[in-house]
Amino acid sequence: MCNGAIGVAKLAEEEEPAAVLETSRGKSEKDDDTTVAKVRLVSYEELPEYMKENEFIRDYYRAEWPLKHAFLSLFRWHNETLNVWTHLIGFLVFLWLTAANLQHMPEVAELLNNFSWSISSAAENASLTQSSLFSEALPMAKLGSNASRAGGAAAASATASTTPTETRWPFFVFMGGAMFCLLSSSLCHLFCCHSRRLNLFLSRFDYVGIAVMIVSSFFPPIYYIFRCDRHWQFLYLGAITAMGVFAVATLFAPHHATGSFRVFRALLFSSMAFSGIVPAVHATVVNWDDPHRPVTLAWEAAMAVSYVTGTLFYVSRVPERWRPGCFDLAGQSHQVFHLFVIGGALAHYQAAIIFLQRRGALGCT
Ligand SMILES: [Zn+2]
Repeated sequence: MCNGAIGVAKLAEEEEPAAVLETSRGKSEKDDDTTVAKVRLVSYEELPEYMKENEFIRDYYRAEWPLKHAFLSLFRWHNETLNVWTHLIGFLVFLWLTAANLQHMPEVAELLNNFSWSISSAAENASLTQSSLFSEALPMAKLGSNASRAGGAAAASATASTTPTETRWPFFVFMGGAMFCLLSSSLCHLFCCHSRRLNLFLSRFDYVGIAVMIVSSFFPPIYYIFRCDRHWQFLYLGAITAMGVFAVATLFAPHHATGSFRVFRALLFSSMAFSGIVPAVHATVVNWDDPHRPVTLAWEAAMAVSYVTGTLFYVSRVPERWRPGCFDLAGQSHQVFHLFVIGGALAHYQAAIIFLQRRGALGCT
């Protein structure tokens, strides 16, 4: 075991010594003891069979914890803490980006401006901060900040009069899919320690989230690139949606949710994602002269590299397989996988913003 891990192990034992408490006390005390004993962190060997997924993570498991304690473990160290927080923070980042971009939709801006001036101001700041981080979003942010300054209904009409008329829903389909995936993953990691039944349900929920994220990622590029060729739009979006439904149906078989099917799941989701190569090649040929093609391709390539790298960590279970027990709390493959998922989603967000702004405003000839 690693030195750092031993330190935290001792802390955990000191905090929760209830497993060794005497049993010759009153009933209520015994009940308390039972609950506290349940929220003890346990080793891999002590886990029920259905929770044994990664033998290289040796310790700090929560096993069959009550829901309340599982929720409160959000603020405690165990081997899922960083898995929960990485995707929870990723969800909040996408929620913030969605709110900032929604400010630039006339109807939503009107609703939000009427609802609360403070919400509007916060979103303006968020838009401007976002613009410095994501320079491609700048023109939209400026439109929104003008609207916010004017305030109330006047702001809404200002936004309405200056906002281009491009269709925005494919962009928000992607943002919704990304948020759903990140939140379902975070909830799965937080509560999967409760019971076998909830573990199975949340594992499936997590896989549905991944499928939704992959399918929704296809909407901005396919919609905007083939916006003047509806049958290609329908064909590609229909095909990826059908693949998503098939993947979810396959993963609903109980044994496919277990750790031993890790590679199968990775292959299933990867094949869904890489089916995007077909429309990508098609789009590159069709839009060869588009000046924005190199930029969007670069962002999409960054997304692909990020997802592939993350998947390699997920499947190989590196680095914990090299030194079992050393990465129980931090540095394990699943945490690295989570970070690459967020990186890939943000790269795709950048591409989606360009598709929305540059291509969405183009007319069909
Ligand atoms: Zn995960």
